[in-house]
Amino acid sequence: MSLQVIEPRIRGFISLTAHPEGCAVNVREQREVVRQAGITGHIGTALVIGSSTGYGLASALVSCFGYGAETLGVCFEKEPEESKPGTAGWYNLAEAHRLAREEGRVFETINGDAFSTEVKQQVVDALRRLGPVDLVIYSLAAPRRRDATGTIWNSTLKPIGRPYTGKAFDLRGEAVTEASIEAANDEEIASTVKVMGGEDWSDWLELLLAEGLLAPGARSVAYSYIGPELTAAIYRDGTIGHAKEHLEETGHTLDARLKAAVGGDAWVSVNKAVVTQASAAIPAVPLYLSVLMKLMKERGTHEGPIEQIVRMFRDHTGPGAMPTLDAKGRIRLDDLEMQPDIQAEIAGIWEDLTTENFRAQSDYAGYQSDFHRLFGFDVPGVDYTAATEVNRPLV
Ligand code: NAD
Repeated sequence: MSLQVIEPRIRGFISLTAHPEGCAVNVREQREVVRQAGITGHIGTALVIGSSTGYGLASALVSCFGYGAETLGVCFEKEPEESKPGTAGWYNLAEAHRLAREEGRVFETINGDAFSTEVKQQVVDALRRLGPVDLVIYSLAAPRRRDATGTIWNSTLKPIGRPYTGKAFDLRGEAVTEASIEAANDEEIASTVKVMGGEDWSDWLELLLAEGLLAPGARSVAYSYIGPELTAAIYRDGTIGHAKEHLEETGHTLDARLKAAVGGDAWVSVNKAVVTQASAAIPAVPLYLSVLMKLMKERGTHEGPIEQIVRMFRDHTGPGAMPTLDAKGRIRLDDLEMQPDIQAEIAGIWEDLTTENFRAQSDYAGYQSDFHRLFGFDVPGVDYTAATEVNRPLV
């Protein structure tokens, strides 16, 4: 046992500490959203790659607590050691495991580098016990990848073709600034595709096929993002967007492969912008998200990862559902974000955003609170003056 008072230590777009009880409450709230969704239908076994935070965590919770799937997650988190607390993702999963156990459900985790052959083998071994998978969710957001040959590839966030200068937000100084980012070279573009493109998703599915671990009719979904014109130069038309295009193209190849091999399907779902550790690191996105959140809350259409994923299973990829696809064959969970009237209103506000007026012109308070909540802080009902158990195992 190790009881500690945990203080927030937030530095720009990361937090150096995480509050175990705050993370546990977040997970319980997400489970409640799943419970209230009135889900019917059953999934046998689900594999979620990137299961500890954001969209992957939501996918694992919906699979396990909504559809009763025996759920195996893969993530890369720091386990608490002696008196040293772990990361938020670890505490999220500690609570998810505890709840699953309490309800007699199966939720297991392999904590390690999902790109590595070792972790892939551990998953194969676990699935021999749990059974072939009916669902594979691919939700990694990683800064780098060591491939099977030992080569390290880094993901960069840069424009392609010409430098980018545009509005940005300094999370540390809480100031609207202008960012200038040089254009990526060919090596940086290729390297980002290696990390965030479709190759590793494809490796996973090929491995599961080769091992006979994809159940008949198995479905796989990977997540993508498009976003507005405002962030296009740095996101969708930049290095990351290039990688997402590769992921989306890979989805078509994998769809044909799964159809032929097991009568299954593979899709890419374009999700909406939400507050996660991955999105906080993208220039301009925290500011864009703050404005977006204000407008979507005003319209009653605001969603976080759990609401998006409940909707994805219900309307598109869950048992008995078939997705509605856009002209490029993608699921568009970002439909509400991309509504023309919302985008036009954001573009108008964007022009005039300054350090002096951004709090009034956006829901920055909401963004900041959601950001703190990612790490278990700012969670209503949690007593932050009380010591909390930091040694929480994944039982
Ligand atoms: P996140 O940072 O919350 O989660 C990333 C997950 O990947 C975590 O579980 C982490 O442990 C895991 N991970 C990272 N590196 C790993 C490694 N080497 N091995 C094993 N696990 C590893 O990210 P997120 O925002 O939920 O993003 C997930 C996916 O959704 C990404 O493809 C992202 O592009 C996409 N997406 C995100 C947004 C957004 O606004 N956040 C919007 C649309 C789509």
